[in-house]
Amino acid sequence: MRITVIGCSGSFPGPDGPASCYLLEAEGFRLLLDLGSGAVGALQQHASLDDIDAVSLSHHHADHCLDICPFWVARTYDPHGRYPRIPVYGPEGTARRMAQAYGLDEDPGMTEAFDFVTLAPGKREIGPFQVTLAHMNHPVETFGFRVEHSGRVLAYSADTGTCPALVDLASHADVLLCEASYLSGPDPMPDMHLTARQAADHAARAGAGQLILTHLVPWNHQERTLAEACEFSSFGGPISLAAPGRIIDVG
Ligand SMILES: [Zn+2]
Repeated sequence: MRITVIGCSGSFPGPDGPASCYLLEAEGFRLLLDLGSGAVGALQQHASLDDIDAVSLSHHHADHCLDICPFWVARTYDPHGRYPRIPVYGPEGTARRMAQAYGLDEDPGMTEAFDFVTLAPGKREIGPFQVTLAHMNHPVETFGFRVEHSGRVLAYSADTGTCPALVDLASHADVLLCEASYLSGPDPMPDMHLTARQAADHAARAGAGQLILTHLVPWNHQERTLAEACEFSSFGGPISLAAPGRIIDVG
């Protein structure tokens, strides 16, 4: 399983990269986890837009889903012909929400380009991946992902405050791709996002192999994000920062 970070900027795109989007590849299948603001541009450095097999959206915040709009344009209006319809997995109401985002009538909305599938907690297969989903601790319905292939495991937090379900989802994962939106300081908003230290705490409790911090908000100094996670000594594995274009081969 190969993971390519397309975008890892938290809450809004940064000067050097888009908001959340990760390309997962195995057995020639290409799955996008999230498609946040600006991601369709950078994605083209790594894959053709007609070469994506499925998209899975963690939640409906703009920085995780709104580039479905330019993706729909590209797949619908290419003068060489419309691209094949592909599944787009997401929370309840994704088809309606994306139609509204582009100002389309809800029928057909984007359904001629995308087969919208509503996610629920539990297990499902997406291409060659075995995917386990759980609700995270965020103000709108949000799914975290555990993606398994050939005995290797990636866990992805999406957006979440402190969350026991994330520890379960990341249990002994090879890689925990975990949001670290906040630095330590006074009164971070509860039930919204994690500090870097909280991300490390979740990784330690899960027994994850390595922690990659993501959803890095442009107003933070990311050296401090990394330092604050590393100071949490109970996580003994490697900790690093996601970066646009970074490739992680798992297994
Ligand atoms: Zn969010």
